[in-house]
Amino acid sequence: MSESLLSDAGKRLQAAMKYVSISEDAIERLKYPKFSLNVSIPVRMDDGSLKIFQGYRVRYDDTRGPGKGGVRYHPNVSLDEVQSLAFWMTFKCAVLNLPFGGAKGGITLNPKALSKLELERLSRGYIDAIADFIGPDVDILAPDVYTNAMVMGWMMDQYSIIRRQISPAVVTGKPLTMGGSVGRDGATAAGAYFVIESILPKLDLIPQQTTVAIQGFGKVGSVLAELLAIAGYKVVAVSDSQGGIYAKKGLDIPSIRQYKASSQGIKAVYCEGSVCNIVEHEVLTNQELLALDVDILIPAALENQITEENVDSIKAKYIFEVANGPITSAADKVLESKGIMVFPDILANAGGVTVSYFEWVQNRSGLYWTLEEVNQRLRQKMVEESKQIWSISQELAISLRTAAYVHALNRLGEALSAKGTRDYYINGRVS
Ligand code: NAD
Repeated sequence: MSESLLSDAGKRLQAAMKYVSISEDAIERLKYPKFSLNVSIPVRMDDGSLKIFQGYRVRYDDTRGPGKGGVRYHPNVSLDEVQSLAFWMTFKCAVLNLPFGGAKGGITLNPKALSKLELERLSRGYIDAIADFIGPDVDILAPDVYTNAMVMGWMMDQYSIIRRQISPAVVTGKPLTMGGSVGRDGATAAGAYFVIESILPKLDLIPQQTTVAIQGFGKVGSVLAELLAIAGYKVVAVSDSQGGIYAKKGLDIPSIRQYKASSQGIKAVYCEGSVCNIVEHEVLTNQELLALDVDILIPAALENQITEENVDSIKAKYIFEVANGPITSAADKVLESKGIMVFPDILANAGGVTVSYFEWVQNRSGLYWTLEEVNQRLRQKMVEESKQIWSISQELAISLRTAAYVHALNRLGEALSAKGTRDYYINGRVS
C-alpha cells in the first residue's frame, strides 16, 4: 500500500507539470526525496527486556526552508509511507507559502501496546538517533497520527539535553508550558473551516441549506464538525472506525463530542446515551456514509478511502479532503468526470502546519500571540491561498488539485532555479 502511495502522489505532480514553466532541473530534483534516514531504536521495556524499534526521518526537499513534518506512531509506518507523507508536506508548505520544505518521520509500532514510560523512552531514543539530522534551522518535528503534545514535549526536552540549550523551535505542537502556540490543537479543523467558508459563496451555497457528512470523528473531524454546526451547516452524518450515524435534520454535534469523549465510539455512545433522545438518527456503515447524497463530503480519517472500487457510489457535490490522501488518483479521474469538485488535502488540511509555522516564529522571537491573533493570521493565509488556487483552476480549466500543485510547483521551481539551473549553460558552455 505504502509504495503505491508514493507513486500515486507522484502522479499528481506529473499532472501539474504541463501547466508550469519551471526548469527541467527543478522537476528532476522534486522526483526524489533529498534525504531518507532509517534508524534502529533500542528501548528498555518495563519487564527489563530490550526491544528494538524501526524509525524513519525523511526530508523530501528543503529548498524553501528547513524541513517540516510530523512524526507518526503506527504499525503500518514504513519508509515508503514516510517518503510519500514528506512529499505531501513539501507541496503543502509551498501552497501556503510557508518558509519550509517538506519532511516526515515515523516509528513502526502499536503505540497502544506500550506503557507511558516505554513510550517516553522510545520517543527520547528516537531523538537520540536522529538528533544530528534535525534542528530549528534544519528539520522541525510535529505531531501526527498517535503522537501528541506530550510526545512533542519529550522530544523537545531530549533535543535540548543533547544540545545543552533550550531549543523549543525544533518541535511544534508542544504543550503550551513548553512554548506551544495557542490555537495549534484546533488549527487543522479551523483551517479547513476557513477554506470552506471562503469557497461557499463561489458554489452558490449558504450554510443553513448545506448538508455535510464527515468520515472520521477524531482530533480534526470532530472539531470541524462542531465549527460547521455552530455556523449553521446541517451536519447530517459522522463516523469513526466503529461506524457512523445519520440524521436528516442534522446531528447535535456538541453532545456527540461530549459523549464520544467519555466512551469508545460514536455508535456505542450515541445509541446508549441520552443523546438518542435529542435527535432521531440511523446507524450507518462507513461505506454508506461516503455514498450519502450530501452537498459536502469530508473524509477526515485515513488514506485511500475513495478508490476505484467505491467511487461510483459517491453522490456528494463537493469533497474537502481533510485526511491526507483519502482519494486515489484513479478515483480522482472518475470524480472529475462526474463533475464532483475536490478541494485537495494540500490546501484543505494545511491549517495545522500553518499554525506550526506560527509556533516556530513565536519560539524564535520570544513573543507570544493571543488566540485571536493566531486565528486571524490563519484565516488570512487560508483564504488568500484558496482564492489563488480557485483562480488558477478557473483560468486553466483544471481541477483544484492540479491547480494546487501548479501553485506549489511555481513557488518551488522559482526557489530551485534561484540556486542555479542548467539554463546557465548554452550548448554545453557556461553563458
Ligand atoms: P485521529 O486519530 O484523531 O482521528 C482519526 C479518526 O478516524 C478517528 O475518529 C478514527 O476512529 C477514525 N477512523 C479510523 N478508521 C476509520 C474508518 N475506516 N472509517 C471511518 N473513520 C475511521 O486523527 P486526526 O489527527 O484527526 O487525523 C485525521 C486525518 O487528518 C489523518 O489523515 C491525518 O493525517 C490528517 N491530518 C491531521 C492533522 C492534524 O493536525 N491532526 C493535520 C493534517 C492532516
